[in-house]
Amino acid sequence: MEKTHLTGLTRAELVEFAERQGEPGWRGKQLFKQIQARRLFSFDEMTDLPKKFRQALREIAVISTLKVESRFVSTDGTRRYLMKTQDGFPVETVFIPSENRDTICFSSQSGCPLKCDFCLTAKLGLLRSLSAGEIVEQILIVLNDVYGVGNETPHGTNLVGMGAGEPFLNFENLVKAIEIICDKEGLSIVPNRITISTAGIVPKIYEFAELKIRPHLAISLSAPTDELRNRLMPINRRWNIETLMQAASFFHEKMRPREKLTFEYVLLKGVNDSENQALELARLLRKYRLKRVKVNLIPHNTAEELDYTPSDETKIERFKAVLESHGIPAYIRRPRGRDIYAACGQLAAKASVSAVSKKLETI
Ligand code: SF4
Repeated sequence: MEKTHLTGLTRAELVEFAERQGEPGWRGKQLFKQIQARRLFSFDEMTDLPKKFRQALREIAVISTLKVESRFVSTDGTRRYLMKTQDGFPVETVFIPSENRDTICFSSQSGCPLKCDFCLTAKLGLLRSLSAGEIVEQILIVLNDVYGVGNETPHGTNLVGMGAGEPFLNFENLVKAIEIICDKEGLSIVPNRITISTAGIVPKIYEFAELKIRPHLAISLSAPTDELRNRLMPINRRWNIETLMQAASFFHEKMRPREKLTFEYVLLKGVNDSENQALELARLLRKYRLKRVKVNLIPHNTAEELDYTPSDETKIERFKAVLESHGIPAYIRRPRGRDIYAACGQLAAKASVSAVSKKLETI
């Protein structure tokens, strides 16, 4: 019999689980706290649970299913984790430290079915979607590694769903993982500290906008015209820019006060980084009267497997200036650790450990 992965159960589900084992429901709440707040991965450490129950749990349940295969630490403190699921699929997670607030970038799928032309993960294709438990576990593993088991995070944590995969193609598990992560008796991360990035799965943007526990949204755009976006992000052939912007407008209407909608734009030398294209992007955002938006400009990282090179520094600055001159806040997202790739997860799970390690050593 397959063991139940407790990390992917909500507090309410753990109450039911405990009751099914003949225990009072509050034992389930206790279990939830031990896993999600204390971040314990071993039943033996849960000494406030009766020994008999802990023994039974060992037979029927499991807390941790991901195995960290490799961990790389960049000189700027960025940590990259290559993990494996129990059935052998690669999962990547990145920790990015910062003075004010650390960020964990998690994956929603192993590989990705979308074929963004500038993305290494795309080369893998979809291996499989991750379960809610596998999404949550990535965060628990990183927090324990960086701060020590159960220790407080010194200045809170931001989460970004920009790792490998398209989160909105794994919507149900993503939403469940968010519920678990935001639970006040667990990790207690507020939705305002979480950003989910989509390449433009339009129907799910509408659904996401209506969620009760809703993180921020980032839309990976990377081109101001359909002609170019069809080429760079083939998902555009299914939902073109107009359809995408209508969904963005709907989301914009539903936003909380002071919330901002982010557009991510990967800058590719000679492809989408001209002044004229910056102007087209500004006009596009203005056309839909999106007032509370910001644009993250992401200089592309080169990789042997990809036919693109990063834009020149002057071009990047000029692109930013054009957007700003049209009243659109724009930020250049400097790559951290250089192993981390842009917008919605350009992680290359297939990258051999030695290749990644070599990259990090040279920083
Ligand atoms: S950029 Fe994001 S959505 Fe596109 S292929 Fe890569 S991981 Fe998938």
